[in-house]
Amino acid sequence: MTALLEARGLAIRYPSPRGEVRAAEEVDLEVGSGEIVGLAGESGSGKTTLAMGMMRLLPPPGRVAAGEVLFDGTDILSIPEERFRREYRWTKISMVFQGSMNGFTPVFTVGAQIDEVMRIHGREGGRAAIGRLLRMVDLDDGIARRYPHELSGGQKQRAFIAMALALEPKLVLADEPTTALDVITQANVVNLLKRLRKETGVSILLITHDLALISQAAERLYLMYAGRVVERGPSDRLLREPMHPYTQGLVAATPTLESRDIKGIPGFMPDLARLGEGCSFHPRCPRAMDVCRRERPALRGVGGEGVACWLY
Ligand code: SF4
Repeated sequence: MTALLEARGLAIRYPSPRGEVRAAEEVDLEVGSGEIVGLAGESGSGKTTLAMGMMRLLPPPGRVAAGEVLFDGTDILSIPEERFRREYRWTKISMVFQGSMNGFTPVFTVGAQIDEVMRIHGREGGRAAIGRLLRMVDLDDGIARRYPHELSGGQKQRAFIAMALALEPKLVLADEPTTALDVITQANVVNLLKRLRKETGVSILLITHDLALISQAAERLYLMYAGRVVERGPSDRLLREPMHPYTQGLVAATPTLESRDIKGIPGFMPDLARLGEGCSFHPRCPRAMDVCRRERPALRGVGGEGVACWLY
């Protein structure tokens, strides 16, 4: 599959009084055309920062310290901001943010806000176009005339996804798109993303801490820990036979209908401003060895599979 989005050696850093925060380091990631790819990890593992960095939306003083992000072969980090805003952000790459269902302005109707996004980017808005978008996400046309507070959480999330698709982007970065929704609505939103991919061919990078959710949608997964990708591979293999002890811990901590004993991962994510030598997971790893404390394992593997662990 041709890569639509390709991050190579991406590093994102923030200065802080404690030292430089290494929010993402040496990240390689690919999303193919028409593919749903999952990016998973605990809160604070660097997933959202990575997405914001790729969209050139890092709040200062955050900065991309190294690497490149290719979209359809163009390095979108090196082009002028004006060109990126005009040709890429929202038009070719859009984003459903964390808590985006609360991202609508309360004083305008949903339809007016979708219409504005379309017109700002030179598309013809209007009732018919908005109705088509709302129906695409299984909402009634009448939702366009309602104010955000008149919608349920699930309806608002669908309406935001409709807005993200308004300019027919090739890629959507969906960051925790189901947070704060009940489990039935979560499943509906995931099924919606899968259907939209099938119908429109849009690629989706689905970012979440929820492995159960991601396993329903993504063909391939990247697992992040302390700003680095520690394992990558096809979702079914990675969830059935996880290799990295961190992935194993996450899978064991994911509830299923059969699970009687859910184990958490003891300890906490390290301070990203004070990462020492060695594997960042070693203080929490039940299989840590001497070498793990001294030297950082590189991500090694063949093709789309890989793991960063001295056990392999
Ligand atoms: Fe555990 Fe060592 Fe592998 Fe890190 S490199 S996950 S500490 S075994």
